[in-house]
Amino acid sequence: MKSSYHPETDAVRLQTHRTEQMEHSTPMFLTSSFCFDNAEEMRAAFADETDDNIYSRFSNPSVDEFTRKMIALEGAESGFSTASGMSAIFACFMAFMQTGDHLISSRSIFGSTHTIITKFFPKWGFSHDYFDINDPASVEALVKPTTRMIYVETPSNPGLEIVDMSILSAIAKKHNILLCVDNCFATPVIQRPVEFGADLVVHSATKWIDGQGRVLGGVVVGRKDLVKDVYTFCRSTGPSMSPFNAWVLSKSLETLHVRMDKHSASALEIAQRLERNPHLEWVKYPFLPSHPQYEIAKKQMSKGGGVVCFEIKGGLDKGRRFLNNLKLLSLTANLGDSRSIASHPSSTTHAKLSETERLQVGITPGLIRVSIGLEHVDDIMNDIEQALEKSMA
Ligand SMILES: *Cc1c(COP(=O)(O)O)cnc(C)c1O
Repeated sequence: MKSSYHPETDAVRLQTHRTEQMEHSTPMFLTSSFCFDNAEEMRAAFADETDDNIYSRFSNPSVDEFTRKMIALEGAESGFSTASGMSAIFACFMAFMQTGDHLISSRSIFGSTHTIITKFFPKWGFSHDYFDINDPASVEALVKPTTRMIYVETPSNPGLEIVDMSILSAIAKKHNILLCVDNCFATPVIQRPVEFGADLVVHSATKWIDGQGRVLGGVVVGRKDLVKDVYTFCRSTGPSMSPFNAWVLSKSLETLHVRMDKHSASALEIAQRLERNPHLEWVKYPFLPSHPQYEIAKKQMSKGGGVVCFEIKGGLDKGRRFLNNLKLLSLTANLGDSRSIASHPSSTTHAKLSETERLQVGITPGLIRVSIGLEHVDDIMNDIEQALEKSMA
């Protein structure tokens, strides 16, 4: 059932049926299981003849509310919510790959996704090839008879690289393989990969969707028949979303549009001002004309999102000094928060990679990733500028 409202309205108004208590705000269904009036109803539910809730590992009204909103926002057919972004990604791989199957992924992906592909895939007999995200046409040559999926993140974390999803979906369709897109950085407010041919879209709801750094969550949305397979895998293996987290995340979606507007406006302004800063080699932001994939960003995204990256002159040492000189911005391993966050990938999240591996995914020694929060833009900017001045002194 397609909604007749705009996504902004669905994000606010999609809600579980009002109970006899006549609550206005959505209630939280903290229950492990659900009751039946009689043996026949219970039999029918277990036989999948009804879609009554049985057990919260399978389904739960609070979780369904969050999932329904995400389906509406992404313009997808179906969805399933998971305990974290990683469990959503893992479930997508496990639901569709068998021993002997092959995955093609962009090299510029989240660290834990890289770990699944390189460390755990061999245990199950899955193979992979990485491609350079700046050269999507190179994917076609990597396709094998056993290839099941093309996997990408756009924009990528942390390098903010952008790939043309239409090119990838054309290759996927031609060879009858799935295209799965991690849409964590853009959120459905800014980019809807289904419109560009993605079969599956995954999210870490921990980031912008929560938006306040409180809970973990993930979601897979996409084609109905595919989501059914993800559901079947998750229902038995157990990476389900907690109803408490779902309630938090569903309330968060009520403000996702206004938050992403503000995050993106501040991020663009900060990126533009930083481009004039003499202590930086370069600044990267999807909606700066200097971004190498600016044209693709304009085609796929309605705004630039909340993450800005820049390269400090002087590399690793200056990058670490910069972090130490920040007063307002938090040093923490998250992004997509109301509070601005700075991180230095080459000494933290990506320290285990070799220098060459880091450079291949756009992580230069002085790369700083800033997640722009909801503080006054001048306060964020002043903190970055004073920390840069001090680091260079
Ligand atoms: C954080 C993140 C993930 C993992 O999500 P978790 O909720 O931490 O499990 C996956 N992809 C991207 C792009 C991320 O930033």
